Amino acid sequence: MAKPILLSVDDDSDVLRAIERDLRAQYGAEYRVIGSDSPTAALELLKQLKVRNDGVALLLVDQRMPNMDGVGFLEVARQIFPDAKRALLTAYADTNAAISAINQANIDYFFMKPWDPPAEHLYPQLNDLLDDWQASYRPAFEGIRVLGTRWSPRSYELRDFLARNHVPYQWIDVELSANDPETKRLLEALGPEATSLPVVLFPDGTKLLESVPADVAQKVGMRTRAQTDFYDLAIIGGGPAGLAAAVYGASEGLHTVMIEREAPGGQAGMSSRIENYLGFPAGLSGGDLARRAMVQAQRFGVEILSQEAVGVRTEGPYRIIKFVDNNEISCHALMIATGVQWRRLEAPGIDRLQGAGVYYGGGATEALSCKGEIVYVVGGANSAGQAAMNFSKYADRVVILVRGSSLASTMSQYLIDQIKATANIQLWTHASVAEVHGETHLEEISVLCSDTGKVERVPAAAMFIFIGALPRTDWLASVVERDERGFILTGPDLIRDGQRPKGWGLDRDPFLLETNVPGLFAVGDVRHGSVKRVASGVGEGSVAVQFIHQYLSKV
Ligand SMILES: Cc1cc2nc3c(=O)[nH]c(=O)nc-3n(C[C@H](O)[C@H](O)[C@H](O)COP(=O)(O)OP(=O)(O)OC[C@H]3O[C@@H](n4cnc5c(N)ncnc54)[C@H](O)[C@@H]3O)c2cc1C
Repeated sequence: MAKPILLSVDDDSDVLRAIERDLRAQYGAEYRVIGSDSPTAALELLKQLKVRNDGVALLLVDQRMPNMDGVGFLEVARQIFPDAKRALLTAYADTNAAISAINQANIDYFFMKPWDPPAEHLYPQLNDLLDDWQASYRPAFEGIRVLGTRWSPRSYELRDFLARNHVPYQWIDVELSANDPETKRLLEALGPEATSLPVVLFPDGTKLLESVPADVAQKVGMRTRAQTDFYDLAIIGGGPAGLAAAVYGASEGLHTVMIEREAPGGQAGMSSRIENYLGFPAGLSGGDLARRAMVQAQRFGVEILSQEAVGVRTEGPYRIIKFVDNNEISCHALMIATGVQWRRLEAPGIDRLQGAGVYYGGGATEALSCKGEIVYVVGGANSAGQAAMNFSKYADRVVILVRGSSLASTMSQYLIDQIKATANIQLWTHASVAEVHGETHLEEISVLCSDTGKVERVPAAAMFIFIGALPRTDWLASVVERDERGFILTGPDLIRDGQRPKGWGLDRDPFLLETNVPGLFAVGDVRHGSVKRVASGVGEGSVAVQFIHQYLSKV
């Protein structure tokens, strides 16, 4: 924990050195002692300390300084650190000025120069002041702080990224906390930069303005550059399938890299509670599953890259991956585990309000913000049911909108039972979103009721969309064979009329999870015909490693 600060300001460098020396000798173990010979520079420093969330316990300032006297300095400094103890250093001639300053400018004490011996003329009084200060001092949060607004899509994207990557942070909504004095002081210390939201403040005092996940990823040490340019196995996608492949690959001695563009865990990472994964009778959150799998993968030496793959090509036995920043790596065996992404909901207003009340997927970050509000969940599958159960803990009311007449054909019975038993969840059948309304954020939804043909306009604070998903594999179109919806074909699906895929040069059929390119595998939700479940993704990722060994033995 960073030590609180004792700041002394004196334009006379000899006096400054002496006071710093005496402060350090007595208080150095518990406090950081900082000196400044200029009141203007010291005020700038105080602003920086405020932005860093440092604690300032004492301001000990010379009264007679050019440009600004001690009392003037303490008055300004008080706006920045109102709780810091304020003391003047005065010459005998300034005693009267100091006494009136105590009354007028709320100064806590004045010390006469010289203060020798400090054990008599300095420490006893300072001890009192510092004891006083300690009694009400609450150490500040020391991690990353994110300043933004609830309805800003960019703030949402950043918070979601940090949460899903398990990076702890403190969220400061600058609108909601506009009346909070501490937030005001922080914004003032930031000056014009406070308008470049979202602003991310790091404990080392650095900051990112208008920050985007990629910059923050780099800053918090998430690796975006590969350590080497060649691997035995490269996996694109860090969902359950990719993570399982990474753990099995690395544990069996393959030099393995896993590339993930958002956050390890994939779709499963958005799940508030997975109740059907073997070995967890009480269920576990997707975030927890992802975190455990990450630790396991790292323990076996998997390199995890925070990157987006945008291209793949083959050169003889090598499979080459191109990243969004144009860097490349190559490997012997490549696994595509890119899963699926949410299908877009087509209705007026949706695109404009996305991230500002309209969200695709779980929006775990938003659950807490929905306290006491009315929340809509669109969709009737398990993912929608889990989200509804999660939001019901915070929201006043959760309404599930489904096109059909019930949840029976789309949702698991255990979830249907839980929803029925939850008083603040309401099911609205034969309903679809016709339009969403709001200036800066979602305020109302128009719902088309297919049984009556009427459109009802209802107030809504947030709407979470779970209407199925599709693979985004266009970037692989020239490399692998896909079905008409973009899912990747593997193994027996590639054999047509007894013929192996075009260009297949080996005297064996493609392995079960192998694509039409030897050594290029596809697992999990992205694969044609896959079962869209965590366990099946994990199973495929693990099994594929066996085929990779067989493939590598012949390369
Ligand atoms: C809210 C929700 C709840 C669910 N609940 C359950 C449940 O209770 N039980 C259950 O069995 N299943 C559940 N599922 C389904 C399950 O999560 C999925 O079947 C599973 O996550 C699929 O795993 P995957 O690894 O194939 O793909 P995904 O989980 O989709 O992971 C793919 C990963 O690849 C990354 N990626 C994509 N393209 C690129 C690229 N070009 N470069 C780098 N990275 C890329 C993505 O960012 C993503 O992290 C749920 C799904 C959701 C959305």
